[in-house]
Amino acid sequence: MIFPFYDNSYARLPSVFHASVAPTPVAAPRLVKLNAALARELGLDLDSLASPEGLEVLAGNRVPDLAEPIASAYAGHQFGYFNPELGDGRAILLGEIMTPAGERRDIQLKGSGMTPFSRRGDGRAALGPVLREYIVSEAMFALGVPTTRSLAAVTTGEWVYREGALPGGVLTRVAASHIRVGTFQYFAARSEIEALRLLTDHVIARHYPELAEAPHSPAALLAAVVERQAKLVAQWVLVGFIHGVMNTDNMTISGETIDYGPCAFMEAYDARTVFSSIDTQGRYAYANQASIAQWNLARLGECLTVLMGDGEETAGLIKAALSSFRDHFQSAYLGGLRRKLGLHEDRAEDGALVLDLFQRMTANKADFTLTFRKLCDAAQSEAADAQVASLFADPSSFAGFAEKWRARMASEGMAGEERARAMRQVNPAFIPRNHRIAAVIDAAETRDDFEPFHKLCAILERPYEDQPESAEFMLPATPEERVTRTFCGT
Ligand code: AMP
Ligand code: MG
Repeated sequence: MIFPFYDNSYARLPSVFHASVAPTPVAAPRLVKLNAALARELGLDLDSLASPEGLEVLAGNRVPDLAEPIASAYAGHQFGYFNPELGDGRAILLGEIMTPAGERRDIQLKGSGMTPFSRRGDGRAALGPVLREYIVSEAMFALGVPTTRSLAAVTTGEWVYREGALPGGVLTRVAASHIRVGTFQYFAARSEIEALRLLTDHVIARHYPELAEAPHSPAALLAAVVERQAKLVAQWVLVGFIHGVMNTDNMTISGETIDYGPCAFMEAYDARTVFSSIDTQGRYAYANQASIAQWNLARLGECLTVLMGDGEETAGLIKAALSSFRDHFQSAYLGGLRRKLGLHEDRAEDGALVLDLFQRMTANKADFTLTFRKLCDAAQSEAADAQVASLFADPSSFAGFAEKWRARMASEGMAGEERARAMRQVNPAFIPRNHRIAAVIDAAETRDDFEPFHKLCAILERPYEDQPESAEFMLPATPEERVTRTFCGT
């Protein structure tokens, strides 16, 4: 059996939650990549997945046994404006499996044809965004950031029409669930209180079972989601990730990163960095991500308030849950920065030390990832300082920080080698740099060449290891290579 669907719990929810719809077959599917490690983790049979029938399923040409394909309903605030009806317009949930570790996982096809939620869209995905989501989601997983996963990518043998004609693709996405802040908003906006209650119970049973007996469970759920999202966004910021479209429909309740559209990793450090071509106001800039997450969670809080009644007690509980974001975020972020700098003790003055480094990096356009990776060597031997300094437009700027940093390290007493080893586990050497992704997509689109894609995926599987044979993949884009804006390209 290709997918041992066993208990499609979301499909069993009432019909307001979703629409039954089968994927639309494509002309000439071809497998680009199957994620063997993920398939094993999910307990799937690799041979069946890689078989001709497996390919048919991954392309949406065959509905596998026991699947109950649905498109789910959701709403969402997009760039601050509420849209009461979004939903899966180009994604179809095939069903849910249980992993050998006893975890429930959604199996979803993205780009698999029209659904009742497609509005004016064609229900399809271009191959480029499929490859981008595959690369970045798997890179995030390898970096240790909670995320949806990519099980497979296929080409469809059909064109999709965007700015021009582009080859089509289908991604098989795996997630703990695809329930979003926007799913709650969908029912709250329609005053479907019973559905909202069912959704809340479903989410607690599925993602927060420890809250099953909690008093004021909607507020307890909010507090738990706030905690996961605060920690998630801290992890994004610590690896330089910019999501790009943090609309409420792109924020999961499970705490997984979802929907890799116009996302990118920051290169030269600048807290104001924006990538998305559609984010003209900089709403989703690098340093805005924590406050936007809070704003989105406040929208979730409004939905959950509906279940608890409008009293003062409810307002107090919801407010407390929302305001816990700041502490969770700050402690995850500062703790993470300390680890990135090789510091162990928690000291009040560390914030100022970090700020000093960031100011110097911003003024000198120092690459975020490389600076921290090279700091690992510098922690071990001062001789490596020159390598860090060379990343700064004015190399002498680094010395002012280095002196304070060394004094701070010395006050803790720990062998340099041990410190450097710990730092290398949190400061990646390899991230999915935008110009590399662009080159992969270009080779696939224009030459039908997937070698660069496979190579990039392989490098990004081991982001914390030095890979001298691929050293050029550590480097930021040259001015000619730089991709200044990434497009949704949906
Ligand atoms: P996203 O930008 O992927 O978060 O999508 C936002 C909304 O637009 C979701 O409801 C999607 O299902 C829908 N959407 C995006 N692209 C398409 C498409 N090509 N066809 C139909 N719906 C789409
Ligand atoms: Mg989305």
